[in-house]
Amino acid sequence: MFENLSDRLERSFKILKGEGKITEINVAETLKDVRRALLDADVNYKTAKEFTETVKQKALGQNVLTAIKPEQLMIKIVHDELATLMGGAAVDINIKGSPAIILMSGLQGSGKTTFSAKLANMLKSKRGKNPLLVAGDVYRPAAIEQLKVLGEQIGVSVYAEEDNKNPVKIAQNAMQYAKQHGKDLIIIDTAGRLAIDEQMMNEIESIKKAVNPQEILFVVDAMTGQDAVNTAKEFNERLDFDGVVLTKLDGDTRGGAALSIRSVVNKPIKFIGTGEKFDAIDVFHPERMADRILGMGDIVSLVEKAQEQYDEEEARRLQKKIAKNQFDFNDFLSQIRQIKKMGNLKDLASMIPGVGKQIKDLDIDDNAFKGIEAIIQSMTPDERAHPEILNGSRRARIAKGSGTNVQEVNKLIKQFDETRKMMRLMTQGGPKAMMKNVRR
Ligand code: GDP
Repeated sequence: MFENLSDRLERSFKILKGEGKITEINVAETLKDVRRALLDADVNYKTAKEFTETVKQKALGQNVLTAIKPEQLMIKIVHDELATLMGGAAVDINIKGSPAIILMSGLQGSGKTTFSAKLANMLKSKRGKNPLLVAGDVYRPAAIEQLKVLGEQIGVSVYAEEDNKNPVKIAQNAMQYAKQHGKDLIIIDTAGRLAIDEQMMNEIESIKKAVNPQEILFVVDAMTGQDAVNTAKEFNERLDFDGVVLTKLDGDTRGGAALSIRSVVNKPIKFIGTGEKFDAIDVFHPERMADRILGMGDIVSLVEKAQEQYDEEEARRLQKKIAKNQFDFNDFLSQIRQIKKMGNLKDLASMIPGVGKQIKDLDIDDNAFKGIEAIIQSMTPDERAHPEILNGSRRARIAKGSGTNVQEVNKLIKQFDETRKMMRLMTQGGPKAMMKNVRR
């Protein structure tokens, strides 16, 4: 799904690779590429333009954390904006009322009949409904037959009147039937044409008036891109529908419809169809769709966590302490805890202030910090702040208190001393200064 768009976006972000910070220039360059990717995915021109403008404002307005690379930050912003573009949160359908009535609309071939059956099946099995499918397409005998076959397969009753050519009357009769037979949900499948025509619109408007549905869904083939968006606009002007169903997302869809419909029509996408089988139906989750499009969920959540947990002021304070060689065991402990809160240590190691990339290649075991924490916790506040006072008897006491042994305590203190030295060198002059020190 949307593979081409995913690849293109990934390439756009590479422009920021190796950049130290976000600037007007590198953002503009990246977003020019993002916009092109969106247009090539058949996203509406105005939507693409507004999208990149919003991303630009957000990127330039961000208080950039030293811990996050510009490329990662951009991925996160684009991800969030994609989700917003598609509507933000998932929107449920309204099936209150007994019977609740859902009216399906859309062009012929969009997948209306298939989706009606899928939805009936889903609401029956997941929400305990007792649905009735209504065959409202009076022009194609095959359509009635198709619905009957589908209904049988999923064990849902189908209401049809083969000889009646008045869909409004059929819908009204179906309501009577539903009440008499204890059906608490009616799904009305209607006739579609190959293109919008006046008679079809009048007809479905009359059905709407006659049955007053809780929910009108507009079904559209996602493969048709901008045509899907235009058709949605016309249907919405006449029907003021409640939600969109995007079908055939399992195909080679470019993404334009999914990304533009919400902002052009201002109605939420509620479901997607991802195949011909009954279970190929999903509630539409904008956030998850954005995850899929970007395919970089790990980076997005990494930045999210860092933004949530990372205290930039604290990082600056520490950096100063490191430079003055005042970094102590309290700082060490709080760093370890901060990193632990964020999850995967290996990924996050590079976020330690002043350390950055250099430490990233080290092998870090997630459990390695447990013993370290216990040892530091067994130190007195004075010992933590002034590690130089840790003599033999103090070390023996700490070993006992932490349930470790003197060798481990010695090892930690030695490591701490070395880390402190290394951190200081890194903040002062980077790896070059460190190498000089090693040679000496
Ligand atoms: P209607 O004319 O709007 O009622 O459309 P149909 O329900 O008859 O569907 C038209 C064709 O699209 C059929 O061959 C369906 O099997 C197929 N179809 C419907 N939904 C999907 C979907 O989500 N994915 C795929 N691949 N095919 C679908």
